[in-house]
Amino acid sequence: MDNIVIFGAPGSGKGTYSAALVEKFGYNHISTGDVLRAEIREGTELGKIAERYIEKGQLIPDDLIIDMLADVYDTMREGPGVIFDGFPRTIVQAKALKDMLQARGEKISVTLNLIVSEDILMERLLNRAKIEGRSDDNEETIKKRFNVYYTQTHPLIEWFKKEGVLSEFTFKGDKDLMIKEIIEKVESI
Ligand code: AMP
Repeated sequence: MDNIVIFGAPGSGKGTYSAALVEKFGYNHISTGDVLRAEIREGTELGKIAERYIEKGQLIPDDLIIDMLADVYDTMREGPGVIFDGFPRTIVQAKALKDMLQARGEKISVTLNLIVSEDILMERLLNRAKIEGRSDDNEETIKKRFNVYYTQTHPLIEWFKKEGVLSEFTFKGDKDLMIKEIIEKVESI
């Protein structure tokens, strides 16, 4: 089965391009952000902890995310593949993902790194704030999330490169072109 990591800064379009891949290939989709927001809505213990971090734009502790991810992944083993969206976000999570997959005879098939300029990212997130009303889509928290991304998550690009799974896509103003390029890549794996 295909195990696809979709990677990029907040607002880079991970959700949008995941949806295109789900439609094209019938993959299952794990968005750790969506899972956490559902836990918050349901008022679970994990949700209560997650809320405190999300509102500050910080990452949830690795061990909580890793346990949750393995549980969700195991419900999706029958399908053609899984897209990991918003995970991994730290080196510890990346290594845990590798181990989790290895224990199941699987591996990361490809990491799709979405490269988008910071001006466009900020504009998209502020726009999304108006539409979706996410508690962490305000200018102050967005800046914190960028900072977290550049300090904790961006260094993972080197790790993916060393693992030989990195594939990069630069947004040049045309979403449909990005979708086409991404689909071509996934077809070639
Ligand atoms: P997202 O919807 O992917 O932008 O995630 C929203 C928020 O959920 C992030 O700012 C983090 O607080 C939290 N979160 C989502 N995924 C992770 C992860 N893999 N590790 C830690 N925190 C996460």
